Amino acid sequence: MSNDIFDVIVVGGGPAGATAAHDLARAGRKVMLLDRAGRIKPCGGAIPPRLIRDFDIPDHLLKAKIRSARMVAPSGTSVDMPIDTGGFVGMVDRDEFDEWLRERAATAGAKRVTGTFDHFDRDANGHCLITWRDKFGKEESAQARLVIGADGANSAVARAALPPSGRAPFVFAYHEIVRTPQQSEAIAPNRCDVYYQGKISPDFYGWVFPHGDTISIGTGSAHKGFSLRNAVAELRKDVGLEDAPTCRREGAPLPLYPAKKWDNGRDVLVTGDAAGVVAPASGEGIYYAMLSGRLAGEACMETLRTGDGRALAGARKKFMRDHGRIFLVLWVMQTFWYRSDRFRERFVKICRDPDVQRLTWESYMNKALVKTDVMAHIRVFFKDLGHILGLVRSPHGS
Ligand SMILES: Cc1cc2nc3c(=O)[nH]c(=O)nc-3n(C[C@H](O)[C@H](O)[C@H](O)COP(=O)(O)OP(=O)(O)OC[C@H]3O[C@@H](n4cnc5c(N)ncnc54)[C@H](O)[C@@H]3O)c2cc1C
Repeated sequence: MSNDIFDVIVVGGGPAGATAAHDLARAGRKVMLLDRAGRIKPCGGAIPPRLIRDFDIPDHLLKAKIRSARMVAPSGTSVDMPIDTGGFVGMVDRDEFDEWLRERAATAGAKRVTGTFDHFDRDANGHCLITWRDKFGKEESAQARLVIGADGANSAVARAALPPSGRAPFVFAYHEIVRTPQQSEAIAPNRCDVYYQGKISPDFYGWVFPHGDTISIGTGSAHKGFSLRNAVAELRKDVGLEDAPTCRREGAPLPLYPAKKWDNGRDVLVTGDAAGVVAPASGEGIYYAMLSGRLAGEACMETLRTGDGRALAGARKKFMRDHGRIFLVLWVMQTFWYRSDRFRERFVKICRDPDVQRLTWESYMNKALVKTDVMAHIRVFFKDLGHILGLVRSPHGS
């Protein structure tokens, strides 16, 4: 590597890192994007319209457009939640999606390097010195004024350069990619199915997400003893996918709470899964990774402009100001509704409510609730309370 110092080295080229590198390069900063190649990120690949809009995602990356969700209760009864506004949820394949994002960053001027981050040091001038190994195991290094760790859950950059923050709560998620059968009664090409059943997950949910030619079928749990593979095998059987050819089996941790500190107040900042920004209850992480990557880029630009490392804290501050409350609500929701089949059954029944459906889709699709629709919020609040206290009886008894 040349001795030229980079403004920013971004470690990790997933949605968070590729977004930060793109934004910084486009703003004229000298950026290196370091990513280890060879592993496709295990992911259901569902992305909201807000992401497609804000990050200019082209239509050809969408393998399917989802127009409704089917929530399945422990008893097997289900509730369909159509998207009435004419919008859709996009489905991306992460091999293609992530590579497209990395290439966009390179086109904007970021220098792409393939290698595995190894360690963090400082040179004689106090600048960051990043060392990585190439695919032959050879060590290389480069200097930078700032470093962004976007290297996913269990970030090596965070471990190397930030004070220990303790183990954040996480769910381990596992899925299998199978070939879409020619014909299937149980699966629709434009519907996501979500299974709230203790046998599929004792504390999260299972899913069947169509991606055109393939389907992601998976589940997650924080319970160490729970067999995710057996649960997915059972789900495959339940939906008639047991004989569908399997393309991949893979899993990864989902960190479900934003880390307390994202930076060292000087020159290192983490973002995306490395900062713990996956929404509880839904496990949605791609949008939050890209948004936090964008905020990390902005915080770095501010630090480069002013020379003040304290500006790095602005990324977390802005993120929590806009999304901290919804993360907390989702955390409470997951803890409350996902704890037993009795509660899961009620949760699915609540989803029958038109106000719940509308507000759920609005908040997922646009990442903002319609503030003027106060009456709908109040109705949902009291219906929720009624269900929690057992006062509301569903049309199907119980
Ligand atoms: C099974 C499963 C299903 C999911 N489904 C969905 C879904 O449907 N919708 C949704 O929104 N979210 C989903 N998520 C969450 C989502 O995948 C993540 O939140 C998102 O990928 C986080 O992006 P990121 O860029 O922060 O990290 P990652 O996507 O994990 O990217 C990290 C990058 O860093 C690189 N890297 C790691 N270590 C090093 C190193 N030492 N040196 C160099 N490079 C390194 C990796 O190669 C990778 O490219 C799912 C997660 C799982 C596990």
